[in-house]
Amino acid sequence: MSYRLTFLGSGTSHGVPSIGCKCETCLSKDPKDKRLRSSILLERDDKNIIIDTGPEFRIQCLRADINHLEAVLYTHTHADHLNGIDDLRSFTNKNVSLPLYGDEKTIVEIKQRFSYIQLGTVNGTTIPNLTLNVLKPYQKVDISGFDITPLIIDHGWLKIYGYKIFNSAYLTDCNNIPDETYKYLKNLDLLILDALQHHPHKTHYTLEQAIEVAKKIGAKKTYFTHIAHGIKNDRDSKLLPKNMELSYDTLSIELEE
Ligand SMILES: [Zn+2]
Ligand SMILES: [Zn+2]
Ligand SMILES: [Zn+2]
Repeated sequence: MSYRLTFLGSGTSHGVPSIGCKCETCLSKDPKDKRLRSSILLERDDKNIIIDTGPEFRIQCLRADINHLEAVLYTHTHADHLNGIDDLRSFTNKNVSLPLYGDEKTIVEIKQRFSYIQLGTVNGTTIPNLTLNVLKPYQKVDISGFDITPLIIDHGWLKIYGYKIFNSAYLTDCNNIPDETYKYLKNLDLLILDALQHHPHKTHYTLEQAIEVAKKIGAKKTYFTHIAHGIKNDRDSKLLPKNMELSYDTLSIELEE
């Protein structure tokens, strides 16, 4: 069976263009240089799941015409991955709860930061009706028909989740991949990997580092994501090996399980 993966956003935490910036990328007219915060949609057998709900989640749902949602996976709790959570109420009502998944500290922090969310119950129709579920690392689960394996990646001093989905891997926000995780990245059809910018960063791979990591993993196809304004699509695409590309918002890929 096939499934579809769509980039709802491919940008870093500031988004591109960055507020107030007049650099070449931020002024670019190329639609591939307009990057909302990083998130992907997965569609299979009339089931939709999303990884991360950043601040532009509502805009991304409207642009991709998403009208139902079966689950949300979270990579970590940084604002650019979580803060659109309130708009999940569009997919819930007092009878329909939406399951969210993440590692233990993600689930604990969601309960703290969004304590008004009535978890599992709802008293009013405007409150998101969400249930929170902890996923254990490296344990494959079935979520709405998708094979999902949470993988630990290093995001500076944080350990966060990347996800293996069937034979694809989504590894946003990382600057190191632990040895244990590499074991799950063999013979991938598709790798999606963090590549922030050209100059070094404490919590993200540079484009140059990401290319080296992607070569080591050796997926059939690699797309880079979580891209900042230091990278311009047409200029920097020329730097990439032929089975690697910069992702861009709305890019959609059909994959086999
Ligand atoms: Zn991020
Ligand atoms: Zn800029
Ligand atoms: Zn982050």
